Amino acid sequence: MDSTKILQCPACGHTMRKVNIPEAGFTIDMCTNGCGGILFDNQELKTIFSKDEVIDKIIHYLENSDFNETNTDKVRVCPVCDTPMVKTGGASGVEIDCCNVCGAAFLDNGELKKLKQKS
Ligand SMILES: [Zn+2]
Ligand SMILES: [Zn+2]
Repeated sequence: MDSTKILQCPACGHTMRKVNIPEAGFTIDMCTNGCGGILFDNQELKTIFSKDEVIDKIIHYLENSDFNETNTDKVRVCPVCDTPMVKTGGASGVEIDCCNVCGAAFLDNGELKKLKQKS
């Protein structure tokens, strides 16, 4: 599912930008004016994990920018369905905010890189 709704960043409240990644086949919401966080709609995170070139593209897109620091301990609220997100550590050791209702996942700036290094 690829939402067309404009989303507010769950970490810093800035409006997220929809970035088209042709290799992924869908747009990805990124907090390009705030904290550099990335919001994946339902299943998008799983989809890109088999695609290294997509991950590289996203990392490259967010590189060399100064992003705001965020409080990672704060409970984030899913911008898609307004449900408090749950921090999921998983096997990777990188904490991701997940929404158990709609399946969205939020990655703070740098977390995608960490995930890639671990995989
Ligand atoms: Zn943000
Ligand atoms: Zn949700």
